[in-house]
Amino acid sequence: MSAPVVIVGTGLAGYNLAKEFRKLDVDTPLLLITADDGRSYSKPMLSTGFAKNKDADGLAMAEPGTMAEQLKAEVRTHTRITGIDPAHKRLWIGEEAVAYRDLVLAWGADTIRVPVEGDAQDAIFPINDLEDYARFRAASAGKRRVLILGAGLIGCEFANDLSAGGFQVELVAPCEQVMPGLIHPAAATAVRAGLESLGARFHLGPVLASLKHAGDGLEAILSDGTRIECDLVVSAVGLRPRTELAAAAGLAVNRGVVVDRRLQTSHANIYALGDCAEVDGLNLLYVMPLMSCARALAQTLAGTPTEVNYGPMPVLVKTPVCPLVVSPPPRGLSGEWTVEGSGADIKALCRDAAGRLIGYALTGTAVQEKLALNRELPALLA
Ligand SMILES: Cc1cc2nc3c(=O)[nH]c(=O)nc-3n(C[C@H](O)[C@H](O)[C@H](O)COP(=O)(O)OP(=O)(O)OC[C@H]3O[C@@H](n4cnc5c(N)ncnc54)[C@H](O)[C@@H]3O)c2cc1C
Repeated sequence: MSAPVVIVGTGLAGYNLAKEFRKLDVDTPLLLITADDGRSYSKPMLSTGFAKNKDADGLAMAEPGTMAEQLKAEVRTHTRITGIDPAHKRLWIGEEAVAYRDLVLAWGADTIRVPVEGDAQDAIFPINDLEDYARFRAASAGKRRVLILGAGLIGCEFANDLSAGGFQVELVAPCEQVMPGLIHPAAATAVRAGLESLGARFHLGPVLASLKHAGDGLEAILSDGTRIECDLVVSAVGLRPRTELAAAAGLAVNRGVVVDRRLQTSHANIYALGDCAEVDGLNLLYVMPLMSCARALAQTLAGTPTEVNYGPMPVLVKTPVCPLVVSPPPRGLSGEWTVEGSGADIKALCRDAAGRLIGYALTGTAVQEKLALNRELPALLA
């Protein structure tokens, strides 16, 4: 039998690529390999589980066996790739070599871990996949107080969801506003006020200096001396694309695995997409770009070399207490911001010197204007 197309990763990137590929080619052997349990799920739903009253099993959409059948593919679960050998078109799983026709890296990003003093490292939970989420849900049973590290998009979404789920939330981050670098300060103020109305408390400026077991719970000490009692810590300080195995195999890496518009790495027959990929200089950790990449790469793998284009890709942030849609100005473009509205309803628009809309942040009722504004936005990758 000829060597299969091998996809490493069964996240949204891996499974969606496989689906798109099977629409075009039903015969080529397809092998998906994943370090996790291979269940199909939508990662964005992880920050809605408490409000929707769904645990990890409730968020899982399909077992790997069902996916294998649907995709006419083999799915190897709990299997970690340990190396790539581009010269011989094979990869390594420990001592086992697996040959590929084409290899696709869809292995995502790692959560960044910050060093913390104290004896309670075990109470810090990153939540970046369904198994992480299952661990966190199990540990949170019967608990009331959660400290969240990080005030980015993910930290704010968890703050909303955990508050809605009845937890007392304290949020700690060394920045001046929520979602720094992503949204205008006026929009950040609106989102923060919304989260505070749910009872969340913000500690912006300090970092977590130490975390210790104390009685039944934990004692967190911040770098400014603030002492917080809590039961669990969620770490949402950011993600770093997985690049080590690619670099070790001699593939070009930068922030992510470097690929061109055809999603090809610096080696023939090896491609990358999703959180791990830096596409023509852009490493976007969102679903919309990975779906565009999956469609383009499926064409290429099925014999029609196809480049990916990104249109405008606004991000819907899941903070229902203060709805937020954001489209940061594309790289290389700069402009002036204007802010209209007040309180929860903020319309912050960024226009270039010629008056063209290049970015926005909309909160509250202003979110309704997104469709009209999207028509004016420039493409991210034309
Ligand atoms: C809480 C949360 C909320 C989010 N909300 C949104 C949202 O609302 N909108 C949005 O657009 N985006 C959102 N995102 C981002 C979005 O979910 C990600 O961009 C997307 O899921 C990434 O998919 P992926 O397939 O590239 O990576 P992953 O889903 O991380 O998949 C990586 C896969 O690779 C496997 N793997 C890794 N290393 C190896 C190895 N060595 N060998 C074998 N397998 C390996 C893993 O087991 C896994 O199967 C959110 C993210 C989080 C964490």
